[in-house]
Amino acid sequence: MRSSGLVLTLNSGSSSLKFAVMDPESGETALDGIGDALDTPAPSLSWNYSDEKSERELPAGAAHGAVIDFLVDMLQQDLPELRRQLIAVGHRVVHGGEYFSRSVLIDRAVIDAIAECSDLAPLHNPAGLLGIRTALAAFPQLPQVAVFDTAFHQTLPEHAYLYALPYALYRDHRIRRYGMHGSSHRFVSERAAQLLNKPISEANIVSAHLGNGASVAAIKGGVSVDTSMGLTPLEGLVMGTRCGDLDPGILIHLAESLDYSLGQISRLLNRDSGLLGVSELSSDCRELERAAADGHRGARLALEIFCYRLAKYVAAYHVPLLRVDAVVFTGGIGENSCFVREKVLQWLRCLDYELDTARNQQTRFGAEGRITAPGPAALVVPTNEEWIIARDAAALVRDARG
Ligand code: ADP
Repeated sequence: MRSSGLVLTLNSGSSSLKFAVMDPESGETALDGIGDALDTPAPSLSWNYSDEKSERELPAGAAHGAVIDFLVDMLQQDLPELRRQLIAVGHRVVHGGEYFSRSVLIDRAVIDAIAECSDLAPLHNPAGLLGIRTALAAFPQLPQVAVFDTAFHQTLPEHAYLYALPYALYRDHRIRRYGMHGSSHRFVSERAAQLLNKPISEANIVSAHLGNGASVAAIKGGVSVDTSMGLTPLEGLVMGTRCGDLDPGILIHLAESLDYSLGQISRLLNRDSGLLGVSELSSDCRELERAAADGHRGARLALEIFCYRLAKYVAAYHVPLLRVDAVVFTGGIGENSCFVREKVLQWLRCLDYELDTARNQQTRFGAEGRITAPGPAALVVPTNEEWIIARDAAALVRDARG
């Protein structure tokens, strides 16, 4: 570890809290862990320190505060040397609306603005705020920084972020496309430029973040110019349990002809659709690949739709970029699924992408690199959102100190 200080990163999801203590310069992680199934009857906590994995049960119903309390105790009592090196706490916040186009030091006004954006991310922003409030109380002497998923996409031009709805909905209610996964798209596009031996200012990248949630971004010279998620994380690609793009007329049909309530529609689109809905089996790509190989029709169809939709988005993003230096795959599926990458690149043969089968098979489980034959490039780059959070937090603390 270097001596310029460490950053504690906190990533609060609706039922989980991931944490890490990281060197912002090298990206080296000293401690990392996750509190999972929070606010349920069987929450759990696991962490890695010094190549050693530890676990413990939490009391039933324990939530984010319990994980942070545990972390504070562990740092103070067992790892005081690590605690002494902390220079900041960095928080992932999902939705920053139009308030935030970059990461910021947290103060009262920032907390109020995050709260105001909660109606745009009702599952995520309140969890982020809880993490911030608990960490402010636990580490009152450390500067705290918010890093927004939406900030990277605030550079989208009007023609990309506006819906063809009455303009007043944007003017009066800020209904527009915001995009998500900004830290991931930023990280992998910067790393891809390095792998391509180009300055980021000259690299044009289509980045596909494929996890349980999934989005694509068109990044021109380091600047996001289009992305597939919209006002909410429902738009765009097929996801684990979310439907992605849809004829909005379906919603009217569900309500008027099939008597669905708003709550039922929301559940249908967010939790019962996507890979899970089509396959009638699972939202998990690994499981679907196994089932498809065994002849499960639903699994095969779900993966087919997933890959076809993704290929169409990647092809479409050649429009704003004109010249694409690389398509980048990341996230659990993008980093590991040879099957998905192969299918997508097959569809992209119209643009001369040609898979290198051996490299595709070799590049998984944390490996990075090119998976196409000479010609248009596709790369696999493992994402590291924590590192972006740590880097931004350290930079803001440095600037604030002058
Ligand atoms: P999250 O969005 O929750 O962070 P991840 O980025 O971890 O999700 O991605 C989870 C997805 O990655 C799951 O669909 C999982 O099946 C898929 N995945 C993980 N490993 C593999 C693998 N070896 N092959 C195919 N898919 C994988």
